[in-house]
Amino acid sequence: MHPDLEKLMVLQRHDVELKRLSDEMAALPKMIAEYEAKAKAAEAQKAGVVEAIAKEEMVRRRQESDIKDQQSKIAKVRKQLDMATTTAQVAAFEHEIAFAQAEIGKLEDAELESMERSEMLAAKNMAADEAAVLAEKVLERERAQAAEMIARAKSTLELVQHERTIVRAEIGEDALTLYDRIAKAKGTAVSEGVDQKCSACQMLLRPQRWNDLRDRDNHETMMTCESCGRLLYYDPARDAPQKKAVRSESIAASIVRSL
Ligand SMILES: [Zn+2]
Repeated sequence: MHPDLEKLMVLQRHDVELKRLSDEMAALPKMIAEYEAKAKAAEAQKAGVVEAIAKEEMVRRRQESDIKDQQSKIAKVRKQLDMATTTAQVAAFEHEIAFAQAEIGKLEDAELESMERSEMLAAKNMAADEAAVLAEKVLERERAQAAEMIARAKSTLELVQHERTIVRAEIGEDALTLYDRIAKAKGTAVSEGVDQKCSACQMLLRPQRWNDLRDRDNHETMMTCESCGRLLYYDPARDAPQKKAVRSESIAASIVRSL
């Protein structure tokens, strides 16, 4: 293997790790924003219930004042009834009183319905309260965890960056330029050849190239995948007997085979 290639493999591990860490750090604020939105929604729901309770109380106050109005109307008409001189007047006042009493009955029924609604709203209020408290607790917990994760990721990031600088200094300029160019275009620049294929793009290598890649005495040239252009390497450990014994078939396939 070309001496630079081994270092490029290390460099790629660092670069992949750096990307993973920065992705992880970038994902955290989004996750926290989701928990913030949930807590906000729970607060809004609670506020909605509180508003509904206030409205219901207002409805009931109006019903009570309407009942009082009807009662004073009845009292007034009764006085007029006492002073009535004709049967027609008596009938008219009695009709008015009966009408007001019916109105009071309707208002009282409506008041009962309103009280039932208030009871339901009180239960809803309790549930909304609990949900809001819980959402706030979850948010605080996630915030604390995210802060911890970011602190941890930052220190790992610094470490990896430091190691990356060291390994880059050890690599030849040409190899480094090539690596940077491929990595910029493809995301990764180095790919393992496995089973005569480029493990990054899955393209089959021609037999001669495959043999060249596996040639242990080849320390001169760096081979690239003809399809994706990545630098290829071959891990000789794959030729070791214990590695060969490793099953490459899927679990499902092995179950089927053992039936
Ligand atoms: Zn490839």
